[in-house]
Amino acid sequence: AHLDRIDAVDGDLNAFLARDDEAALATARAIDERRAAGESLHPLAGVPIAVKDVVTTEGLTTTAGSRILEGWVPPYDATVTKRLRAAGLPILGKTNMDEFAMGSSTEHSAYGPTRNPWDRERIPGGSGGGSAAAVGAYEAPLAIGTDTGGSIRQPAAVTGTVGVKPTYGGVSRYGLIALASSLDQAGPVTRSVLDAALLHDVIGGHDPMDSTSIDRPVPPVVEAARRADVAGLRIGVVRELGGEGYQPGVRARFDEAVELLTKAGAEVVEVSCPSFEYALSTYYLILPSEASSNLARFDAMRYGLRTAPSGVAAPSAEQVMTATREAGFGDEVKRRIIIGTYALSSGYYDAYYGSAQKVRTLIARDFDAAFEQVDVLVSPTSPTTAFKLGDKLDDPMSMYLQDVATIPANLAGIPGLSLPVGVAEEDGLPVGLQVLAPAMADDRLYNVGAALE
Ligand code: GLN
Repeated sequence: AHLDRIDAVDGDLNAFLARDDEAALATARAIDERRAAGESLHPLAGVPIAVKDVVTTEGLTTTAGSRILEGWVPPYDATVTKRLRAAGLPILGKTNMDEFAMGSSTEHSAYGPTRNPWDRERIPGGSGGGSAAAVGAYEAPLAIGTDTGGSIRQPAAVTGTVGVKPTYGGVSRYGLIALASSLDQAGPVTRSVLDAALLHDVIGGHDPMDSTSIDRPVPPVVEAARRADVAGLRIGVVRELGGEGYQPGVRARFDEAVELLTKAGAEVVEVSCPSFEYALSTYYLILPSEASSNLARFDAMRYGLRTAPSGVAAPSAEQVMTATREAGFGDEVKRRIIIGTYALSSGYYDAYYGSAQKVRTLIARDFDAAFEQVDVLVSPTSPTTAFKLGDKLDDPMSMYLQDVATIPANLAGIPGLSLPVGVAEEDGLPVGLQVLAPAMADDRLYNVGAALE
């Protein structure tokens, strides 16, 4: 049914970059047989899933939305992929994304934008717009995304789906094509909070292949999603994540949801996180710095594309590298490599990267102080609903502002969930509410999310 649905709508939506129909059907049939034979399987066994194209899949192309990796077939599975396969989830294919996960609209994909199933003239969010659109358009019931600054939560918000960025270190990064290693985290994109919890449970947990993986069991997320009880819970509304710049319809749905939480017995207070004012500037120094270093591996020798410079008879390795990176990377990727290389260069390192690291600590301290007063924090996920394709393409700053509410969680390594809380009156488009919790208290997200659903 899902393959048929993809056939029917993906020509317009462009959520998938690669499909694996035969393998998906074979897995589904094998699971059917095992279930018929009485084997006890994971509740998600046999439920198909779409995987963001930044997660390696053995034998299936993985491009990270870039020309430089066009046609690259990984020789191994990411740990996330391995766990999906082990639990028996058929992988439908790979989903579209902004190149190397840099963007908030999926328009920076080298393979054309994905369209929002709610309105095909609008963006599905980014960088994981393909995963969110696939779930929102019923092409897949589940998807995997990655979130470095909001790429799971913002696409979920603008497509009316549920998206979760787990605690940093809660899901293995082994086999994810790295954007910014200290920020990246894979997580679920689904249509319900319970589905997200079940999927989180499949992919989470310690992995010796990732040195930043936390050696503790997955928090009790499934139990929390089933409990859905917020009586007595202390909820903080972050003053700095609202107000000016937030669309009225976004604000209205958010206020309504907070009202519902109060009625359900939660204690709601306002909290202030003054350093959040600097979160975006901090992120746009740390992210390009790490990205410029991670992307150095695309050197025309090891992976993907290799282009010879034109008119050079016997090009040097460096000339081949330059020609390949010139042809293989898009403008946004080049912009960030240049910013990152500059921020890390000697003489500037302390002023830029060093200062950003200090402010990052201040942001984490704001969260620590807030979580002494409350159990969870809430805010709108994104300041606006889905904007029109092309609207922000020539204005990087306004594109970056889409993530103003999601970025602090990545800087602090804490978990965040976005769930749909209705549509904005002015445009009829979905609005997302974000829940944030302390590190390794991911279960609280699901408890609050399920209570609001
Ligand atoms: N939109 C943000 C960026 O462009 C977030 C990206 C992400 O989470 N991968 O960096």
